[in-house]
Formats: sequence, C-alpha cells, structure tokens
Amino acid sequence: MTHVKCNAQRDERTVLELIASEPRPSESGVLVLNHNFEPLNICGLHRGMILVWLEKADVLRFSDNTLRSAEEEHLIPSVLRLRQHVRRPTPQLKISRKSVLARDDYTCQYCGCKQNLTLDHVFPRHRGGETSWENVVCCCLRCNNKKGPLTPQEANMRLPHPPRKPRYVPFIAFPRFISAMRKQEWREFLEGYGKGLEL
Ligand SMILES: [Zn+2]
Repeated sequence: MTHVKCNAQRDERTVLELIASEPRPSESGVLVLNHNFEPLNICGLHRGMILVWLEKADVLRFSDNTLRSAEEEHLIPSVLRLRQHVRRPTPQLKISRKSVLARDDYTCQYCGCKQNLTLDHVFPRHRGGETSWENVVCCCLRCNNKKGPLTPQEANMRLPHPPRKPRYVPFIAFPRFISAMRKQEWREFLEGYGKGLEL
C-alpha cells in the first residue's frame, strides 16, 4: 500500500511540475484543466504533449493547427483535462500593477484612453485610501494629474462602475488568464471562473 501511495505522490509531483511550465513566446500554449474542470495553467505545448503521452491527461480540444514531421501530421492539443485530481492550495489574488491594468483592459477608467497608463487611488492615498482592488483603477497620466489629491466627485470625474476584486480562481496569473479568456476556443472553460470581468 505504501508503495502505491508513494507512486501516487510522485505522479502528482510530476504532473504539477509539468503544468507549472510556461509556454515560450513562440509556442502555442495548452490550457490544462484539473479533473473537476478547474483551470490550472496554460503550459507549453511540449509539456502538454508529455502529459498526454504519459496518460496523465486527456485531450478535450485540438487546435486548428497541426504539427508536421517528415512522415506524419500530428494534431495539436489545445485543452487538456487531468485524469486525476491534483490538490493545490488556492492562492490569494494579490493586487499588482499588472493585474489592475489587465482587469481594466489597459484603459483609463476616467476617459477611456489607452495611453500613458498608471494607477490611481480613487480615494486618495494620502487621505487614507487603501491600495485595494476596490480603490485602485487604471488611469492615464492626464486624468491622474487632473484628479490630483481629490476624490472623483471633488474633481468632477466619473468612473464607469465601482472597481472590484475580480472573481476568479487564480491558479493562472491574472493577466494571462485575461488574455486566455479572449481566445475563443478556451472561453467556455474559463468564463465560469472569470465572472464579473468586463471583457
Ligand atoms: Zn484618462
């Protein structure tokens, strides 16, 4: 029994190591889902194919592209589902510049422009405004200067909606999750986890 358990733990470690890889920029990524369909990561194609080859995962969707070798043409997996459930502690979604910009679609929340972006504390920091998902928005430098030390009401500026913490299971880095949501063939697997995102 111990032997079996030991093997199972080693298997789980192997799977976790394989899915922890990130695709190289030139490589098409593979969306990996846990056995319960929870998105776990977007890993490199090569690692994804090893998961299938080791019979650790089944292919749910193939990509439109194929891989050609001298003799054959191979289908490229696009979405995989693990055969065994892997347990991972749920990480907290920490606020960061990159994540706020991604949540707000790289758009100034006051004027809608997409250039010279920075972060704005809606209720000003020096007056006790927190650095939280509910109080930080993407903002252009021009609006940031215009708003200065004021609240939006005081500066006569409007936010389209109150900023909120994204509801999402953050195994995948948030900016990557957002760009993965934009990929049509992955959307059905991700959108249940990205509720409330304005995409
Ligand atoms: Zn602006």
